[in-house]
Amino acid sequence: MIKDFFYYEPVKLLFGEGALNQTGEYASAYGKKALIITTGTFFKESGLVDRLQRILKKSKIDSVYFSAVDPNPLHTQIDAGAAVAKSEGCDMFIGLGGGSAIDAAKGMAVAFGHDRPIWDFCIGEDVQVISAKTMPIIAITTTSGTGSEATQWSVITNPSSEEKPGIGSDNTFAKVAIVDPELMASMPPKITASTGFDTLAHAIEAYTSTASTPITDMMCEKAIRLVGLYLRRAVKDGSDREARNGMAFANTLAGIGIANGVVTVCHGLAHSVGGVCGTTHGETLACMTPQTFRFSMRANPEKYKNIGMWLRNEYFNEGQDLLEDSLEEVEAVINDVGLNVGLRALGVDDKHLDKIANGVIGYMGGSIEIDPMNPTKEDLIQILKESM
Ligand code: NAD
Repeated sequence: MIKDFFYYEPVKLLFGEGALNQTGEYASAYGKKALIITTGTFFKESGLVDRLQRILKKSKIDSVYFSAVDPNPLHTQIDAGAAVAKSEGCDMFIGLGGGSAIDAAKGMAVAFGHDRPIWDFCIGEDVQVISAKTMPIIAITTTSGTGSEATQWSVITNPSSEEKPGIGSDNTFAKVAIVDPELMASMPPKITASTGFDTLAHAIEAYTSTASTPITDMMCEKAIRLVGLYLRRAVKDGSDREARNGMAFANTLAGIGIANGVVTVCHGLAHSVGGVCGTTHGETLACMTPQTFRFSMRANPEKYKNIGMWLRNEYFNEGQDLLEDSLEEVEAVINDVGLNVGLRALGVDDKHLDKIANGVIGYMGGSIEIDPMNPTKEDLIQILKESM
């Protein structure tokens, strides 16, 4: 029997080397003046921002550039970007970068459109609904990655409360997503590894969650096969076009996976660890995936046992303990791309664990509700301890 499901993915998606050149053609339906958001000035210095501005200009789109956004964007930076857009008369937000730039663009589109601080939409008793007042969003991804170009999610950090929720609604999908593997070639090996592991974690979690759909299951399978084929190659040689191309596709497929199947306990924990300790997202996931995988796999063995086979890009599943086999293949990826460190090495201390577990329950509760094992607070603490 096919499982009953609901599937939604409203993004116009343009994939391929050189796709950036068509940004103006597709974006011109949505606005006349764009705020281009990057995390820092790397893309200004590399010439990419100027190139994008020229491309937009050909389609009669003016643009202003905003770079005051950190990796793991802060709510205050999002409010500042929305204020600049207002004073400059922008009517569209273009995130040019990894998940941080794209999520910041989404947050600014919400804050600007509703004329309220973004944190009003994040956490609290009077949390606001993200309505169709949200301004148009264009996502140009340069990492592979978070899949943010294909999701409704925007992950926002509040350093005062040490919280890092993911927010989103049907109105926070990008109107247009540009997935141009050429833009990913400049990622250094460490960013390739950590962002690439995020893709694998998305595919595993969206596939094994109780919210999984038959459509996204196929996409997650393909994403896992592509990560198995290409992540090691992309980390070893960033100029390997075939590997960059494969990872770029895996990234977007897994993004569509989490737009529908969402994420489970490892992502719930990684958000809260990031909120409390400011860690890099993909590295945090790599620290905890072996333990969360081991914790949840026996609650959905038919699915978890496929993952090792797919990572080897095989089509037959044989052997004594296929769950252990899957776990070993995931651990091999982590080791081979140099992400085999514990949470302690990322700055997490025993004194943080209680707050991290409370954060998961407090604002990432969905991730544990749809995890096949439904972890309790004690389970979360145990997973964290074993991941140190
Ligand atoms: P990132 O956007 O934080 O980028 C990491 C660093 O890499 C930055 O310094 C950035 O400037 C640099 N960089 C990006 N592309 C580059 C390139 N091509 N060449 C050289 N340097 C480059 O990294 P990320 O992992 O893509 O995004 C992480 C953020 O996204 C976190 O906040 C995470 O929680 C969030 N996230 C969002 C979603 C979603 O669906 N919206 C999903 C997962 C994670």
